Amino acid sequence: MKITIVYDNCTTKPSLKTDWGFSCLIETEGGAPILFDTGADGAILLHNMEELGINPGDIGTIVISHAHGDHAGGLQDILEVNKDAEIYVPDSLGAGIRGRRVTTVRQPVQISENVFSTGELNGVEQSLALKTDKGIVVVVGCSHPGVGAILDAASEFGEVYGIVGGFHGFSDFDRLRGLSLICTCHCTQYKSELGQLFPEQYIACGAGLELEL
Ligand SMILES: [Zn+2]
Ligand SMILES: [Zn+2]
Repeated sequence: MKITIVYDNCTTKPSLKTDWGFSCLIETEGGAPILFDTGADGAILLHNMEELGINPGDIGTIVISHAHGDHAGGLQDILEVNKDAEIYVPDSLGAGIRGRRVTTVRQPVQISENVFSTGELNGVEQSLALKTDKGIVVVVGCSHPGVGAILDAASEFGEVYGIVGGFHGFSDFDRLRGLSLICTCHCTQYKSELGQLFPEQYIACGAGLELEL
């Protein structure tokens, strides 16, 4: 399994654009790639995809974590170049998408062989639990329900190995003890503190980062 950060406030490659928002591509064995969130701006999303050699038409599933513009803003542009992807949105996203079949998520749900949604937590946001050989890797958008609540929900699918995405103002650092991978992206306020507390586990996020799991 592989996660590629497509859209982030930071970048690892000068050819990629940075912007406030988040998107990543999840590639699993045997299934079509899954796009998790779409950043704020479709043009930036598509630019970064092209630079990373990602064909938007190959994406089989699009998952939106929550209704905020920095995660759902690029959705319309990607749907114009990909007419077939299955779409999973949290119930709180509201209205459907014309002409497309959309799965509205409330409860935990299986999305593909090793990919699960935690369900919409606190009525605001869903996260993904990826089953890897190392354990569960949790992919989060902004963590509005709280990192602790998300980790609890994800642990229903197995022992959590790591977490990737935006942590927002999360500061209950002890909650991360025992994890082997902490990759903080996007809106995470306490990146430097987390890097100091968990030097072995911490990976700095940025567009272009690839995590092989
Ligand atoms: Zn955000
Ligand atoms: Zn948000």
